Order: sequence, then C-alpha cells, then structure tokens
Amino acid sequence: MKYTTVFGEEIETSCIGCTVANNKQFMKGRIYRTKLWNLAQDFEIAYPGMIILSPLRHVSNYIDLTLDEQQELNMLLSHCKKAIINIFNCERVAYAFYEKPDGHIHFIVIPLHNLIDIKDKYSVLGELMTKAEMLRNNKENMVRVVDAISKLKNYFNNL
Ligand SMILES: [Zn+2]
Repeated sequence: MKYTTVFGEEIETSCIGCTVANNKQFMKGRIYRTKLWNLAQDFEIAYPGMIILSPLRHVSNYIDLTLDEQQELNMLLSHCKKAIINIFNCERVAYAFYEKPDGHIHFIVIPLHNLIDIKDKYSVLGELMTKAEMLRNNKENMVRVVDAISKLKNYFNNL
C-alpha cells in the first residue's frame, strides 16, 4: 500500500510497523526506541501527542508477544501517560489496541487535551480519521505536532 505520511513523505509498504522498525523512513515522526519497541507519531494522523507503539518484530497477535515485550510495553505505556501529563498538563488519555490477521500489532495513546475538538471521546480514532486531511493541511496544527514530538523525545531520552 502507498501512504502519504503527516510530513508528506510518500511511502510504499506492505506493513507500516515493519517500515518503522527498519528505521530508514518516517524519521521526523520518531519519538523513542527500546530494544523491543518503537514509539512514533502516527503515520497518517497529525494529532499532537498521538503515540503509536509498535514491536520491532512483526507480531500479529497479542498472545504472540513475549513476556519481555509485554513487560516493556507496560512500562512504556506508563511513561506515555506520564509524558502526556508533563507536556500537555492533561490527565485524560484514550488508548486503542489493534491486531488483525497478518497485520503488525500496535498500541495507540491519544491525549485528550482539547487542542483538537473531539465530539465523542469514545470514538476518538474514527473522528480523527475523518479529520486526517484537515489536520495535515493546518499549518498551526503541524507546528504543534512537531513540537509535541520534540517534547516527547526529550521526555523519553531523559528517562
Ligand atoms: Zn510488520
């Protein structure tokens, strides 16, 4: 599939998770990398502070994550929440978890910080998908996205 990232990069890939794990494209979207996981801004949705956590291995099913991967994920999710409180002074966060046959499992952390108007916090991801184009084309929003990535990088690099 062909994707245009939030930074206008054209990327052709059968798996976004593997592309991120390869560490050669979408460099502007990178936040942090551990031994087993990668943290990045969402590929397609320019929402400030939206973090995608993907395992470096192509894992499709939650039960195929190793205990080490699960433990590291748990630790990283806690840090995502702390970073969001720290950066946006925001306690409200939505979490999403995706697995599909042969797909690359990923976890999503979305701060509900009121920088973007969300009508229904229970369908935040669906709402953001419909706003993807608008968010990318909004220069002021893109400045906030880049700023959030930089602050998140700073938080994680100082752990
Ligand atoms: Zn993959």
